[in-house]
Amino acid sequence: MKRFLVSGFADFGIEVESGVSNAELQGTNITGTWLAAPKVIRTGASRPIAVELLNSLRGFDPGPFPDPRRLPEAALRFTKKFGPLTIPYRAGLAFRFPVAGWWLAIHQLRNAWAAISHSSREKATIDIPLDLGEYFRFANGGLTFRTHRLDTFVVLEIASVLAPRLSVCANNRFDCRSPYFIASDKREKYCSESCARAGKRRANLEWWNKNRKGGKDGTQKTR
Ligand SMILES: [Zn+2]
Repeated sequence: MKRFLVSGFADFGIEVESGVSNAELQGTNITGTWLAAPKVIRTGASRPIAVELLNSLRGFDPGPFPDPRRLPEAALRFTKKFGPLTIPYRAGLAFRFPVAGWWLAIHQLRNAWAAISHSSREKATIDIPLDLGEYFRFANGGLTFRTHRLDTFVVLEIASVLAPRLSVCANNRFDCRSPYFIASDKREKYCSESCARAGKRRANLEWWNKNRKGGKDGTQKTR
Protein backbone atom coordinates (compact mmCIF):
# COMPACT_ATOMS: atom_id res chain seq x y z
CA MET A 1 0.00 0.00 0.00
CA LYS A 2 1.37 3.37 -1.02
CA ARG A 3 1.72 6.21 1.42
CA PHE A 4 -1.06 8.75 1.14
CA LEU A 5 -0.25 12.46 1.35
CA VAL A 6 -3.01 15.03 1.77
CA SER A 7 -3.04 17.70 -0.90
CA GLY A 8 -5.59 20.36 -1.74
CA PHE A 9 -6.52 23.00 0.81
CA ALA A 10 -3.96 23.17 3.60
CA ASP A 11 -6.13 25.37 5.84
CA PHE A 12 -9.50 23.86 5.10
CA GLY A 13 -10.92 21.09 7.27
CA ILE A 14 -14.06 18.98 7.00
CA GLU A 15 -15.48 17.20 10.02
CA VAL A 16 -18.40 14.89 10.70
CA GLU A 17 -20.08 14.07 14.01
CA SER A 18 -20.73 10.35 14.23
CA GLY A 19 -20.17 7.17 16.26
CA VAL A 20 -22.45 4.47 17.63
CA SER A 21 -22.55 2.69 21.00
CA ASN A 22 -24.23 -0.34 19.44
CA ALA A 23 -25.67 -1.53 16.14
CA GLU A 24 -27.36 -4.72 15.00
CA LEU A 25 -29.23 -6.21 12.08
CA GLN A 26 -33.01 -6.48 12.44
CA GLY A 27 -34.56 -8.00 9.36
CA THR A 28 -33.69 -5.70 6.47
CA ASN A 29 -32.83 -2.77 8.77
CA ILE A 30 -29.88 -1.80 10.89
CA THR A 31 -30.84 -0.43 14.30
CA GLY A 32 -28.77 0.92 17.15
CA THR A 33 -27.92 3.88 19.36
CA TRP A 34 -25.78 6.93 18.64
CA LEU A 35 -22.96 7.76 21.06
CA ALA A 36 -24.00 10.19 23.81
CA ALA A 37 -21.11 12.47 22.80
CA PRO A 38 -20.11 12.53 19.13
CA LYS A 39 -16.88 11.14 17.79
CA VAL A 40 -15.58 13.82 15.41
CA ILE A 41 -13.94 12.40 12.28
CA ARG A 42 -11.73 14.71 10.16
CA THR A 43 -10.36 14.48 6.64
CA GLY A 44 -6.67 13.68 6.27
CA ALA A 45 -6.62 10.13 7.63
CA SER A 46 -4.07 7.81 6.03
CA ARG A 47 -6.98 5.89 4.49
CA PRO A 48 -9.87 8.24 3.53
CA ILE A 49 -13.35 7.13 4.62
CA ALA A 50 -14.42 7.53 1.00
CA VAL A 51 -11.98 4.77 0.06
CA GLU A 52 -13.02 2.56 3.02
CA LEU A 53 -16.69 2.99 2.13
CA LEU A 54 -16.51 2.47 -1.62
CA ASN A 55 -14.37 -0.63 -1.17
CA SER A 56 -16.34 -1.96 1.81
CA LEU A 57 -18.12 -4.68 -0.18
CA ARG A 58 -15.00 -5.96 -1.91
CA GLY A 59 -13.43 -7.27 1.28
CA PHE A 60 -16.35 -9.70 1.51
CA ASP A 61 -16.68 -10.58 -2.09
CA PRO A 62 -13.81 -10.32 -4.57
CA GLY A 63 -14.95 -9.64 -8.12
CA PRO A 64 -16.81 -6.76 -9.73
CA PHE A 65 -20.37 -7.60 -8.62
CA PRO A 66 -21.29 -7.63 -4.93
CA ASP A 67 -23.23 -10.61 -3.64
CA PRO A 68 -26.51 -9.14 -2.29
CA ARG A 69 -26.55 -11.73 0.51
CA ARG A 70 -23.38 -10.16 1.90
CA LEU A 71 -24.76 -6.58 1.90
CA PRO A 72 -26.23 -6.61 5.45
CA GLU A 73 -22.95 -7.91 6.87
CA ALA A 74 -20.91 -5.24 5.07
CA ALA A 75 -23.37 -2.47 6.06
CA LEU A 76 -23.30 -3.53 9.71
CA ARG A 77 -19.50 -3.72 9.79
CA PHE A 78 -19.18 -0.21 8.31
CA THR A 79 -21.87 1.20 10.65
CA LYS A 80 -20.21 -0.20 13.77
CA LYS A 81 -16.88 1.30 12.73
CA PHE A 82 -18.01 4.72 11.42
CA GLY A 83 -21.76 5.18 12.04
CA PRO A 84 -24.95 5.37 9.95
CA LEU A 85 -24.19 6.80 6.54
CA THR A 86 -27.32 8.68 5.52
CA ILE A 87 -28.93 10.03 8.70
CA PRO A 88 -27.75 12.93 10.86
CA TYR A 89 -26.08 12.36 14.23
CA ARG A 90 -28.45 12.71 17.22
CA ALA A 91 -26.70 12.45 20.61
CA GLY A 92 -27.67 9.30 22.51
CA LEU A 93 -30.80 8.58 20.45
CA ALA A 94 -31.82 5.39 18.69
CA PHE A 95 -31.44 5.10 14.91
CA ARG A 96 -32.82 2.79 12.26
CA PHE A 97 -32.21 2.65 8.51
CA PRO A 98 -32.70 0.09 5.74
CA VAL A 99 -29.67 -1.81 4.40
CA ALA A 100 -31.00 -1.04 0.90
CA GLY A 101 -30.61 2.70 1.64
CA TRP A 102 -26.99 2.15 2.59
CA TRP A 103 -26.35 0.34 -0.68
CA LEU A 104 -28.10 3.10 -2.67
CA ALA A 105 -25.91 5.72 -0.98
CA ILE A 106 -22.75 3.80 -1.94
CA HIS A 107 -24.01 3.60 -5.50
CA GLN A 108 -24.54 7.41 -5.55
CA LEU A 109 -21.14 8.07 -3.98
CA ARG A 110 -19.49 5.85 -6.60
CA ASN A 111 -21.16 7.98 -9.26
CA ALA A 112 -19.93 11.09 -7.41
CA TRP A 113 -16.38 9.65 -7.44
CA ALA A 114 -16.55 9.25 -11.22
CA ALA A 115 -18.24 12.65 -11.83
CA ILE A 116 -15.89 14.59 -9.52
CA SER A 117 -12.87 12.85 -10.99
CA HIS A 118 -14.05 13.92 -14.45
CA SER A 119 -14.88 17.52 -13.34
CA SER A 120 -11.50 17.82 -11.66
CA ARG A 121 -9.68 16.86 -14.84
CA GLU A 122 -11.88 19.22 -16.90
CA LYS A 123 -11.62 22.01 -14.28
CA ALA A 124 -15.43 22.16 -14.21
CA THR A 125 -17.71 23.42 -11.41
CA ILE A 126 -19.11 20.94 -8.87
CA ASP A 127 -22.18 21.70 -6.71
CA ILE A 128 -22.71 19.63 -3.56
CA PRO A 129 -26.01 20.20 -1.73
CA LEU A 130 -25.83 20.26 2.09
CA ASP A 131 -28.04 19.30 5.00
CA LEU A 132 -29.67 21.71 7.49
CA GLY A 133 -27.85 22.72 10.66
CA GLU A 134 -24.37 22.34 9.27
CA TYR A 135 -21.85 25.12 9.54
CA PHE A 136 -18.49 26.62 8.62
CA ARG A 137 -16.19 27.69 11.45
CA PHE A 138 -13.38 30.21 11.06
CA ALA A 139 -10.81 29.69 13.83
CA ASN A 140 -7.03 29.81 14.23
CA GLY A 141 -6.59 31.11 10.70
CA GLY A 142 -8.31 28.06 9.23
CA LEU A 143 -11.75 27.24 7.90
CA THR A 144 -13.59 24.11 8.95
CA PHE A 145 -16.89 22.78 7.72
CA ARG A 146 -18.83 20.69 10.25
CA THR A 147 -21.48 18.23 9.10
CA HIS A 148 -23.48 15.59 10.93
CA ARG A 149 -23.93 13.27 7.99
CA LEU A 150 -21.26 10.79 6.93
CA ASP A 151 -22.43 10.77 3.30
CA THR A 152 -21.98 14.56 3.11
CA PHE A 153 -18.53 14.19 4.68
CA VAL A 154 -17.54 11.50 2.18
CA VAL A 155 -18.62 13.45 -0.91
CA LEU A 156 -16.83 16.59 0.36
CA GLU A 157 -13.77 14.48 1.16
CA ILE A 158 -13.82 13.21 -2.43
CA ALA A 159 -14.35 16.69 -3.96
CA SER A 160 -12.01 18.84 -1.86
CA VAL A 161 -9.08 16.72 -0.80
CA LEU A 162 -8.90 13.76 -3.15
CA ALA A 163 -10.30 15.00 -6.51
CA PRO A 164 -7.05 15.28 -8.51
CA ARG A 165 -6.00 11.71 -7.71
CA LEU A 166 -9.22 9.69 -7.72
CA SER A 167 -8.59 6.37 -9.42
CA VAL A 168 -10.21 3.03 -10.08
CA CYS A 169 -7.87 0.07 -10.40
CA ALA A 170 -7.39 -1.28 -13.94
CA ASN A 171 -7.80 -4.74 -12.39
CA ASN A 172 -11.37 -3.80 -11.32
CA ARG A 173 -13.11 -6.21 -13.72
CA PHE A 174 -11.05 -9.09 -12.38
CA ASP A 175 -10.09 -9.96 -8.82
CA CYS A 176 -9.12 -6.60 -7.30
CA ARG A 177 -10.26 -6.35 -3.67
CA SER A 178 -10.09 -2.56 -3.23
CA PRO A 179 -10.50 -0.88 -6.66
CA TYR A 180 -11.09 2.66 -5.35
CA PHE A 181 -7.72 4.19 -4.57
CA ILE A 182 -5.85 7.47 -4.32
CA ALA A 183 -3.12 7.55 -6.93
CA SER A 184 0.19 9.11 -5.97
CA ASP A 185 0.81 9.72 -9.65
CA LYS A 186 -1.70 10.37 -12.47
CA ARG A 187 -0.29 7.54 -14.58
CA GLU A 188 -0.79 4.97 -11.83
CA LYS A 189 -3.24 2.36 -13.15
CA TYR A 190 -3.27 -0.26 -10.41
CA CYS A 191 -4.18 -0.02 -6.71
CA SER A 192 -1.35 -2.26 -5.55
CA GLU A 193 1.74 -4.21 -6.53
CA SER A 194 -0.25 -7.45 -6.71
CA CYS A 195 -2.84 -5.93 -9.12
CA ALA A 196 0.01 -4.51 -11.24
CA ARG A 197 1.58 -7.99 -11.43
CA ALA A 198 -1.79 -9.57 -12.31
CA GLY A 199 -2.30 -6.93 -15.04
CA LYS A 200 1.15 -7.57 -16.45
CA ARG A 201 0.53 -11.34 -16.48
CA ARG A 202 -2.73 -10.83 -18.40
CA ALA A 203 -1.06 -8.48 -20.88
CA ASN A 204 1.72 -11.02 -21.44
CA LEU A 205 -0.83 -13.79 -21.96
CA GLU A 206 -2.82 -11.66 -24.43
CA TRP A 207 0.36 -10.83 -26.30
CA TRP A 208 1.28 -14.52 -26.40
CA ASN A 209 -2.20 -15.56 -27.63
CA LYS A 210 -2.12 -12.89 -30.33
CA ASN A 211 1.42 -13.54 -31.56
CA ARG A 212 2.03 -17.28 -31.27
CA LYS A 213 0.42 -17.93 -34.68
CA GLY A 214 2.21 -15.01 -36.29
CA GLY A 215 5.51 -16.80 -36.79
CA LYS A 216 7.29 -15.03 -33.95
CA ASP A 217 9.27 -17.19 -31.58
CA GLY A 218 7.61 -15.79 -28.44
CA THR A 219 10.85 -15.03 -26.67
CA GLN A 220 10.05 -13.08 -23.52
CA LYS A 221 11.71 -9.81 -22.84
CA THR A 222 13.57 -9.67 -19.57
CA ARG A 223 12.55 -6.81 -17.28
ZN1 LIG B 1 -6.50 -3.43 -7.67
